[in-house]
Amino acid sequence: MASMLKYDHLRNTFEKLDLYQCLNSDRKDYLQVQICTWDFLPLDLDNKDLIQVVYMILSQVLSTFDDLEALRVPSGDLYHFIFDICNSYHSTNPYHNFRHAVDVLQANYYFLCRLGVLEPMNPGVSFPPAQSEIKNLFQPLDIFALLMASIGHDVGHPGVNNSFMITTSAPLAILYNDKSVLESFHAMSFFHLLREHCFSQLTDLRSNPEYASFRKIVVNSILATDMSMHDEYVTKIQDQAQRLRRNEIDFTDKATCEKEKILMCGALIKCADISNCARPFESAKRWAKILAEEFFEQGDLERELGMPVLPINERGKISLEDFQLTFKRFVALKLFESVSEVTSCIQFTVDHIYENIDIWEEMKQQGKQQQQKQLPMNQNSNSPTEKDVVTTNSIPPQPSPEGKSSTNERPRSGI
Ligand SMILES: [Zn+2]
Repeated sequence: MASMLKYDHLRNTFEKLDLYQCLNSDRKDYLQVQICTWDFLPLDLDNKDLIQVVYMILSQVLSTFDDLEALRVPSGDLYHFIFDICNSYHSTNPYHNFRHAVDVLQANYYFLCRLGVLEPMNPGVSFPPAQSEIKNLFQPLDIFALLMASIGHDVGHPGVNNSFMITTSAPLAILYNDKSVLESFHAMSFFHLLREHCFSQLTDLRSNPEYASFRKIVVNSILATDMSMHDEYVTKIQDQAQRLRRNEIDFTDKATCEKEKILMCGALIKCADISNCARPFESAKRWAKILAEEFFEQGDLERELGMPVLPINERGKISLEDFQLTFKRFVALKLFESVSEVTSCIQFTVDHIYENIDIWEEMKQQGKQQQQKQLPMNQNSNSPTEKDVVTTNSIPPQPSPEGKSSTNERPRSGI
């Protein structure tokens, strides 16, 4: 476990940084515009900008809602907290680094603005009012909790998935009994960071029982990002959409509201976590390459250790086009479509996914034609299965709920 906590020695990296150099007003204006667009691309931002983005989002939420007054902290303390979060992500990971965390945070910020529970910080941006009743479930502390879960959801990520951790009997896998190993680790580590900083009151439930719901949302939301539970989660969201359609949710019952809200937070963070594929194509493509590189690095390590290597982790085995098409068609779409049924305010993501599928498909066909001209055959014709793609993304090698495959759920014609 000590090796997993290697971020400890990086903790003071930012100590010498002048905290307030982050407050350049021109740059702040630029970031404010970026934060309120779906074109937001943290790959083009440096760490200073990324830290500023987190600061701007968290400070907006804390200053907007009177209910959160007790959590308002001096700006220097908030920066220190964010620096430590930044340092707790491994910058050597191609994908699971601080940029990804900021990307997920911005995605959820954007969703919450579209849902109508947050005002976009850019006064030039406004969204049509969301119709979904589900937005009434969100109290200020819930909004803050979901955003905090977003920035902390992959803290300390080692750059390999749950399957690798379990197969190699990593101490964390032993500690968490092979169940949501990394997600449990991220949640635990994040609460340690909260406790060590200006938000320690959020972790002391004996003195502050009113923050129990914060912990519940953060922990449940982070655990929801375990892709081994993807299908199970999608089914739960579909059930929620049905309850809403049939007016079966009693919004006057506190326990019911709590349950539905936790489910919705999990749904939103899941969408945000894989939102790369729903971003405008050029951004989606850049993220896809980076994610593939992290998978390949795991594959290199597996080969070095004499372990079996999944096709998706093997360089040159599966084309980026096939990987993306399979992931979008069999993993992402069913999630985004289900959440869009709960709240139509994220329907735009479904539209982007379909557009991106068309482009990836076109690229695949062009690639095939070129291949046929140049070579008789090569291994790139191997298409990943749904299981290949999902398994690679943090799934332990346990039997997945077969029969829930989306292949039978809806026609894929025209894709
Ligand atoms: Zn993530």
